[in-house]
Amino acid sequence: MSRFEIIQDGKQNGDGVILRYRTRNETDIYCLGVPLNYSSGEDWDLGASWSYVIAGNELTLIDTGQFNKYDVFNSMLVKAGFNIKNIARVIVTHGHEDHDGNLPEISEASGAGLWAHFAYQNMIAYYPDIVDGARRPEFPGSCRCCMMPDDFNRNCISYQVKRSHIRISNPVRSNTAPPGSDFRFILTPGHSPDSMCTVFQDEVVFSGDTLLATITPHPSLMLEYLVNRRILPDSYGADNNAYGLLAYITSLHKLVRECANAEILLPGHRLFEKGGINQLKPAARAEEIIRFHQERCENILKIMGNKQMGLEEISVELFPLRLRQGMGKFMSRREVMSHLELLNVTGDIEWPDGKNFISRATGTGKYKEFFAGILAKPSITDAAKKPGDK
Ligand SMILES: [Zn+2]
Repeated sequence: MSRFEIIQDGKQNGDGVILRYRTRNETDIYCLGVPLNYSSGEDWDLGASWSYVIAGNELTLIDTGQFNKYDVFNSMLVKAGFNIKNIARVIVTHGHEDHDGNLPEISEASGAGLWAHFAYQNMIAYYPDIVDGARRPEFPGSCRCCMMPDDFNRNCISYQVKRSHIRISNPVRSNTAPPGSDFRFILTPGHSPDSMCTVFQDEVVFSGDTLLATITPHPSLMLEYLVNRRILPDSYGADNNAYGLLAYITSLHKLVRECANAEILLPGHRLFEKGGINQLKPAARAEEIIRFHQERCENILKIMGNKQMGLEEISVELFPLRLRQGMGKFMSRREVMSHLELLNVTGDIEWPDGKNFISRATGTGKYKEFFAGILAKPSITDAAKKPGDK
């Protein structure tokens, strides 16, 4: 029997949809499908950005929709039966524009306390004096490596400025949780250095972009760490544990271990898709994504054979043309790059010319041990570190 009920209909991709999930302890969670400003075409469509209102003793909001959507967000909140002034606590899953978009407005209207990963404060600040090869040094930490074209990210500027004034009242470290409540946080860097998941009543996992239903579109880039390490909190992010696919898979493994009993995933995107609700178990979904990335590594090595290949060449072989158009052009290259980074760490590819990521396979297939270790062992730390790893 489903614990979900549709409160308001909307589009097939979840835009405008409001759902209610009732936990075993009979706490109601309202799921708001806040539409995105952009559509990335059917194949890469993320659907709505999901915000969640937990109607517990105190009203808790998880994620605040995409920027410039405050009115839409607020009208959905009212439809669900809430007044913004009554929100006592806001939890942000990570500092990306489609998840913390209306946070300045919501914080101001509600006066709510803010819970976020301790690195979030660093990611929303500006570092105009740090010259480190960032593609967008004029943008805040979270956006200094933005790959989007000018006409796209011009729209973000006023949101970024407003957001930079926010103070986290409750920076989350591994052992922090709201007192006397049913919450527990799991820090899950990888998609971004400040990603975290929230477990509620050991039943529900709010995952932001760390676990998505039916897609995993943000494998992320380890190389961004090299650019951004100086803006991160001291000693955070070394050993590739803040950025990139290796960090991300480590975080997925953490979820497999620490959310084994959780029943339902409430993700940042695609809770609702093609007119139906995706009801997934968090640990199983995390494991599935790990296996997906293993398969990608396998396919990329197969494509390369013993040829030396560039990013674009691999991408052409891996993705059909329709997935490489529009937004897909960036997304597909990014996905290839993140897997090449992982294969480079495991020693399965080399970058002979150092700069342009022309890759050559070493013929070792060590990534298999890496994944086998992750999927078999209770702790990843030993499995991830092999002789020669940095
Ligand atoms: Zn997102």
